Amino acid sequence: MSIELLTPYEKGNLNQTTTHADCIAWYDELARRHPNVLRFGQVGVSDAGVPIHAGVVSSDGIFDRDQIKRAGRPVFFNNNGIHPGEPEGVDGCMALVRDFCTQPERLAALGQTVYLFVPLYNVDGSLNRADTSRVNQDGPEQFGFRGMSRHLDLNRDFIKCDSLTAQVFNKLFTAWDPDVMVDTHTSNGADYSYTMTLIHTQPDKLGGDLGEFLRSTMLPAMYAGMEARGWPTCPYVNPVKDSPDEGIADFLETARFSTGYAALHHTIGFMPETHMLKPFKDRYESMRALVETALDFTVRNAGQIQALRRAAKQASGTRREWPVHWAMDEANPGTFRFKGYEAQYKPSVLGTYTRLCYDRTKPWERDIAWYNRFPADITLPAPRAYVVPQQWREAIERLQWNGVRMERVEADRMEEVDYYHIVSVTSRPNAYEGHMFHDDVVLEKRRGQVQLRAGDFIVPLDQDNARYAVETLEPLGHDSFFRWGFFNSVLEKKEAYSDYVFEDHAAELLNDEPALAAKFEAWKAANPALLSNQEAVLDFIFANAERYREPEWRRYPVFMIA
Ligand SMILES: [Zn+2]
Repeated sequence: MSIELLTPYEKGNLNQTTTHADCIAWYDELARRHPNVLRFGQVGVSDAGVPIHAGVVSSDGIFDRDQIKRAGRPVFFNNNGIHPGEPEGVDGCMALVRDFCTQPERLAALGQTVYLFVPLYNVDGSLNRADTSRVNQDGPEQFGFRGMSRHLDLNRDFIKCDSLTAQVFNKLFTAWDPDVMVDTHTSNGADYSYTMTLIHTQPDKLGGDLGEFLRSTMLPAMYAGMEARGWPTCPYVNPVKDSPDEGIADFLETARFSTGYAALHHTIGFMPETHMLKPFKDRYESMRALVETALDFTVRNAGQIQALRRAAKQASGTRREWPVHWAMDEANPGTFRFKGYEAQYKPSVLGTYTRLCYDRTKPWERDIAWYNRFPADITLPAPRAYVVPQQWREAIERLQWNGVRMERVEADRMEEVDYYHIVSVTSRPNAYEGHMFHDDVVLEKRRGQVQLRAGDFIVPLDQDNARYAVETLEPLGHDSFFRWGFFNSVLEKKEAYSDYVFEDHAAELLNDEPALAAKFEAWKAANPALLSNQEAVLDFIFANAERYREPEWRRYPVFMIA
């Protein structure tokens, strides 16, 4: 192979990853030389103004998305560099694309399947290059940083889309609607023999026949395929206690993560995580093997995967109820034959505690518990449609980027709807990815008349993209717009009172509103100690008086039409 077709990784000492500039220039040159194999170009701009690129490889030189989608061709999507400090997928993708260009039999083996890739997604983070941010990782010599230019983790940003970068991704993903996605990573965590570990879309959460296909057919094939390629692979090592000895649990990758987001589109997703303590060269090679294993399986089984996805989308249009939240079944683990190292404990030299370490001279192999069942723990009845009033444009934009079909209210009208009264919200005390995330949400479903205005958005659920709408609009969804704080303003009562005036007025209200008076009597009986507290007394009357009720207060502003 000519030297200029070698990747920066291959030209170096096998412990170096490409820079962003070299990566893009290299693909540009490759596409110029192989215009019938590779189409490569800009798909958007990051928050820091850096171009974001994507590429398409096809065996017949057809790259036009509309043409490919119209023909119903399978799409395999490889995303790389979301965490630029975990870059083996970036370098591996370059070599794979080059091999498609230079090995006709490899290209022909794609058949109808199209290989779509993002060479380096977190472009902002990749420019922030050093060797200091991956604390426990063996190479490469220099690499980019996890945070993008707004210090956000893009692998938590798929739903809230605070970054322009994630918005570009949402639109690209929706446009191509890939059948299978592989988003490449490096892990932190325990020590063990495997170089490659695998996070996949949690099958129960993916749901239905598609989830069962992933669990029973694709995952066993992936593990067998990796073993055959010389890279035995285990599920992502997420120990339920200190070390893998007591078992590991599937990682419940909710929709803020890449594979969880993919599941909202009924796409099978993988986050391969190479082990950070293995040399970069091994991580690179095992990542290439993983992507090729997933791609080969997709090519061979594309018809079945596409049929299952189509069925899942069609079924979603007629569902009577929707799961929106899942939890680990602690009582019924499966098992996995695991190759670990002996966990030992010894006194720390830093403090007075006992520390964990692993003895690599004492490997073991045995079945460990694998907690891989996550039944739904919240399932909700499906409305016929949601109504999103037009002022909630952050929610509407995201629904649009994700291809959710919406209709507009034609003329102002009153409508009888179901809605949620927000009883209580418990938020994190500190910022999480730029938001005070609402961990605990308690709702009460109510019914009433609301004013709809011309131009408000109606989201019918008899559509292929219903799942995205349900999991983002139902406040109890793991990563709902509500939990991310999109509707926080309705949690505040907007008006207040002056106590010396309201003191007299409150007495009149109690006279005028018997229901309020009864509530107040009950409150007094339950809270005798608060009667000496003017603010508590007046607040209670103000909050409960019908006369000064603010209907919008604590009313979740997305409505349901039965
Ligand atoms: Zn990562």
